[in-house]
Amino acid sequence: MSPTPLPHPSRRQLLHGGAAVGLALLATGCATPIGTAKARVVVVGGGWGGIGAARTLAESGQVEVTMLEPHPSFMSSPMSALYIAGLKPLSYLNHSYRNVDRTGVRRVRERATAIDRSARFVQTETQRLPYDYLVLSPGIEYMEESLPGYAEGRDRLPVGFRAFEHEAVRQQADAFLSQGGIYVMTVPRPPYRCPPAAYERACMLAEQMQRRRTRGKIVIVDANSDPTPAPTARSIVHAMETLYPNEIEYRRDLVPSRIDAARRVLSTPEGDINYTVANIIPPMRAPGLIRQAGLGERWASVHLPSFRSTADPLVYVIGDAQGSILPKSGHVAHGAGMQVAKEILGLVAGRPEPAPAPGTTVALPGGICWAKVNEKSAIMVNVSASMQIGQAARLSFEVDPQHNARSKQGSLEWAQLMWGTMLG
Ligand SMILES: Cc1cc2nc3c(=O)[nH]c(=O)nc-3n(C[C@H](O)[C@H](O)[C@H](O)COP(=O)(O)OP(=O)(O)OC[C@H]3O[C@@H](n4cnc5c(N)ncnc54)[C@H](O)[C@@H]3O)c2cc1C
Repeated sequence: MSPTPLPHPSRRQLLHGGAAVGLALLATGCATPIGTAKARVVVVGGGWGGIGAARTLAESGQVEVTMLEPHPSFMSSPMSALYIAGLKPLSYLNHSYRNVDRTGVRRVRERATAIDRSARFVQTETQRLPYDYLVLSPGIEYMEESLPGYAEGRDRLPVGFRAFEHEAVRQQADAFLSQGGIYVMTVPRPPYRCPPAAYERACMLAEQMQRRRTRGKIVIVDANSDPTPAPTARSIVHAMETLYPNEIEYRRDLVPSRIDAARRVLSTPEGDINYTVANIIPPMRAPGLIRQAGLGERWASVHLPSFRSTADPLVYVIGDAQGSILPKSGHVAHGAGMQVAKEILGLVAGRPEPAPAPGTTVALPGGICWAKVNEKSAIMVNVSASMQIGQAARLSFEVDPQHNARSKQGSLEWAQLMWGTMLG
């Protein structure tokens, strides 16, 4: 008998349960222009975290919000496996910022190139944006230097772990599915964005191999000894072994040493792999903007539960760029965005939430990741997070013991709910 799937969180729990909205927040003694012009908040990044912050701030009508985002629209990475496997069009992932604009967010289609924290402004190519509070949610960058040869072959090695990279990954997947051969995928050591997503992509492509009778295999070269995070390992390995014994070769504890994209060779300590298509998922870190602003090294250093930078009380870093133990998930990023917006609004109004007493337990933004393993089933990974003030944050996982149809349906509903909340 198959194990029973886990009950899914309710709509309310999804949006608010883990998001710690209303959390008693730490107060700062920073200067806010009360009674004069509206406070100015600059939000860098129009992804999962940035939208959560910008929209909540703008809907209050209490502050002036500028959101910097170079892309013309929002593109979701969650659910991108459905597009890459050919089951959904690109338009399924792509959403307009129209309704974000309607809330009063001033959206600037430019990239932040530098932050001057002492003069309190963000620099873009064409303008200087002064701020009273700054919210940073710029996502991640790839550590290309970790694999010799990667940078030289970058154009032939799309990753697909950032928005707007999915089309190139889909084209390569289509080429592999029609011609066959070896599709090699590398998985880095954590922390990186949505760890189950790598195995999800492999499974969804393996299903297409079966349908299209593709001759060849998908070789997963994993730097870890098991899929990560650890609580997901059994369910993911079970899905790969039972559904795709002939399509997926899973190689553990193997860190590639070099790639030659011109010759299509991935070198490893266990020998060379001659591939047809390579999907290298490099180790990740916060974008250079964070380091240049002195906010952290690999990741931005923040205080929890507030997400305030440890280097600057006027700066909040949320989403995947911050370096707490919270999962690098869109759901967590969005919840953190709403949370920091509420903290800023309290500070601007001169009514900061009182700091929680030492020893109090507070909820932190939690979230759900989905690993779809075929067109009909998925594994739900539900993470709740909390901390006792003065202690380290703690995570607790609920993972489906086996992939199931209910979680596949749950993943589709979750996506519609999240996209609707962010962009509807
Ligand atoms: C394949 C895949 C599947 C996933 N599945 C799930 C899932 O099931 N559930 C889940 O919760 N999460 C999932 N995730 C993770 C989720 O996508 C990320 O955790 C989320 O995008 C993080 O939000 P963010 O705001 O930190 O970054 P992003 O959403 O990446 O947003 C960052 C934005 O900042 C912009 N930006 C970057 N630099 C600058 C700059 N200098 N100036 C201005 N703008 C800038 C970028 O253009 C981008 O739009 C998945 C990820 C992948 C790759």
